[in-house]
This record gives sequence, structure tokens and C-alpha cells, in this order.
Amino acid sequence: MLQAYLPDALAAMMRLQEWAAARRARGGAGIKVRLVKGANLPMEHVEASLHDWPVATWSTKQESDTHYKRVLDYALRPEHVANVRLGVAGHNLFDIAYAWVLAGQRGVRDRIEFEMLLGMAEGQAEAVRRTVGGLLLYVPVVHPKDFDVAIAYLVRRPEEGASQDNFMSAVFDLHDDSTLFARERDRFLASLADLDDVVPLPNRRQDRATEEPRETSPGTFGNHPDTDPALPGNRAWGRAIIDRVAGSDAGAALVAEHTISDEAALEQVLATAVAAGADWGSRSGAERAAVLRRAAVSLEKARAEPAGGDGRRVRQDARPG
Ligand SMILES: Cc1cc2nc3c(=O)[nH]c(=O)nc-3n(C[C@H](O)[C@H](O)[C@H](O)COP(=O)(O)OP(=O)(O)OC[C@H]3O[C@@H](n4cnc5c(N)ncnc54)[C@H](O)[C@@H]3O)c2cc1C
Repeated sequence: MLQAYLPDALAAMMRLQEWAAARRARGGAGIKVRLVKGANLPMEHVEASLHDWPVATWSTKQESDTHYKRVLDYALRPEHVANVRLGVAGHNLFDIAYAWVLAGQRGVRDRIEFEMLLGMAEGQAEAVRRTVGGLLLYVPVVHPKDFDVAIAYLVRRPEEGASQDNFMSAVFDLHDDSTLFARERDRFLASLADLDDVVPLPNRRQDRATEEPRETSPGTFGNHPDTDPALPGNRAWGRAIIDRVAGSDAGAALVAEHTISDEAALEQVLATAVAAGADWGSRSGAERAAVLRRAAVSLEKARAEPAGGDGRRVRQDARPG
């Protein structure tokens, strides 16, 4: 399943195409991919906000609509559907009709399948079934004791119908309301007019191995984004850290270096902390902010040096000055 509201979808479809072509060339079977626009928009926003990541999806409905057509255009080429059959899933009748017409023009109708959700728009599902000759209906099935798992699925349906951006909000009135019909027609035409042959980059491209520490300007505060473990650059970066630390005793040495085992040394540490506290307290807010900002940059630079790293460097850079 690919979600066209992610800019990544076309590149992912291309990788699947390459993989399936190679598999068929070795005598294996092709695959099928279901194309949807994506049903978790609010969750995508929450996740992005919690981690300080860019939102993974397109920011407008029209961009998602255009991208859906980009993927259709690529996937429905005869040489491509031979390896990857396509499931066209959705309820937007303009897009369904577009896929059907395009597949007809290219002579690949036998390689696509239309898919809808049971109970969403029964009359339209029946009309589509009659036109295209068959329809795959999705029905969520769970054991009663797992009903809570189905709730998220069920909640997404009214949520989808509630947004005026979405076709479902007009689906039952299109026949009688020419304004709503024109709205959906114009959205379709606008998304088609934007169609190009670009392969968009993903919105999330964080790479801890190459990024420069970001300094925030005085008077503003911004968290550094969490490390996104799904991204290839970060995974390679993380693997390199594990390789470096694995089998090394640098972590144990660091712990030993910072273990206080006699009373006099502990007194000394406490006295230093108390004196530093007084010094810290005598500084103005702006001076403290400057120190904290330098500490943040040092921590950022030393991100790759956890247990096995050089803890002294962090303290050195952050020292009040
Ligand atoms: C058979 C079937 C299987 C499905 N399986 C999955 C699945 O596995 N995973 C999944 O995520 N969804 C799945 N869905 C749900 C599907 O993603 C939604 O039903 C679909 O997005 C609705 O698109 P549409 O073309 O029918 O309607 P439209 O109204 O044309 O499109 C609505 C969609 O546009 C996108 N959109 C709306 N506003 C914005 C915005 N501001 N910015 C960016 N994009 C926007 C969203 O994706 C929204 O759902 C499935 C649907 C069907 C029919």
C-alpha cells in the first residue's frame, strides 16, 4: 500500500517496480500495490509536532491529488503494470474515472483493480462495479475482544467525511447540487493541471552524519528535532556508533573516571557545585541564556558520542565565559 499524500510515494513505487521487475526476470511472480491518498493526516501532524519534524505529507489536498495522478501515470504504463498490478483505492469518482480512462487508453485495464470500503457510499460503489466489471470491497474484521483495534479505523471514516476538502463531504449531494459538483470538478481539473514528471523528494531528510548544529538566535527558543530512526542517513549514523562502541571499554572507562569513591573527593565536588551555584546566581538572565545556548550547541555536536565518547569536550565548550 502506498499513500500519495506522502511525496515519497512515487520514488517508493519506482523502487517496488525495479524490485518486482528483477524478481520476474528471475522467474518469480509480480506483485500488487494498492494506491490510496492516505487516511492519517491528523496523526501525521501530531507526530511531526511531537518530534519537531517536518510534516511528512503534502501540505494541501491539491498536492496530494496531483501526486496520486503522478503515481497513476507512472504505474499504469504497460511495461510497469506487467510487474506491479495496481489497486486503485478511493471514493473520489473523478480520480476513479481518470484511472479507468487512462488504463483504457494504455490498454492495461486487465492489470488494475478498483477498491472501496464497504458501507461508505454504496450507490457509487455499485455504479463503479457495473462500469469496471468488478470491485474489491474492504471489510474490517476483528474478534469482538479486539474491538478497540477497529475503533481507530471506524473513527477515520466520519473524520474523512467531515473535512470540506474531501470528496466524501459532498458525496451524497453531488447529483442534486451543481455547486458541489463544480467544486469537485474544479479540484480535479486543478490537480490535473499541476501534473508534471517530477519525482519529489521526501519532506523528511534529516541526516545526523552531515547536518550542522543549529544555533537559535537570542530571544527565541526552539527544540532540536528528535532523531528520526526511519531515515536511511540516521540509520547509517546510528549503526556506525554501535559499531564503534561495541566491544570497546570506553563506556566503562568513562563511568570509572566519574565514579567518586572517597569522602574527600565527594566533599570537593559538592564545594565546587555550591561555589558554582553562587557564581551562576550572580549572572544576569541574558548571560545564563548565552551559556545554555553554548551548552546546547556542544551537546548537539557531541550527539554521536554517547557512552563511548569524550564527555570532557561537552563540558569544555559549555563552560560559562
Ligand atoms: C479499499 C481502501 C483501502 C484503504 N486502505 C488504506 C490504507 O491501507 N492506508 C491508508 O492510509 N488509507 C487507506 N484507505 C483510506 C484512504 O486513504 C482514504 O479513503 C483516501 O485518502 C480518501 O481519498 P479519496 O481519493 O477517496 O478522496 P478525496 O476526498 O479526493 O481525498 C481525500 C484525501 O486527500 C488527502 N488530503 C486532504 N486534505 C489534505 C491536506 N490538507 N493536505 C494533504 N493531503 C490532504 C488525504 O489523504 C485525504 O484522505 C483505504 C481506502 C480504501 C477505499
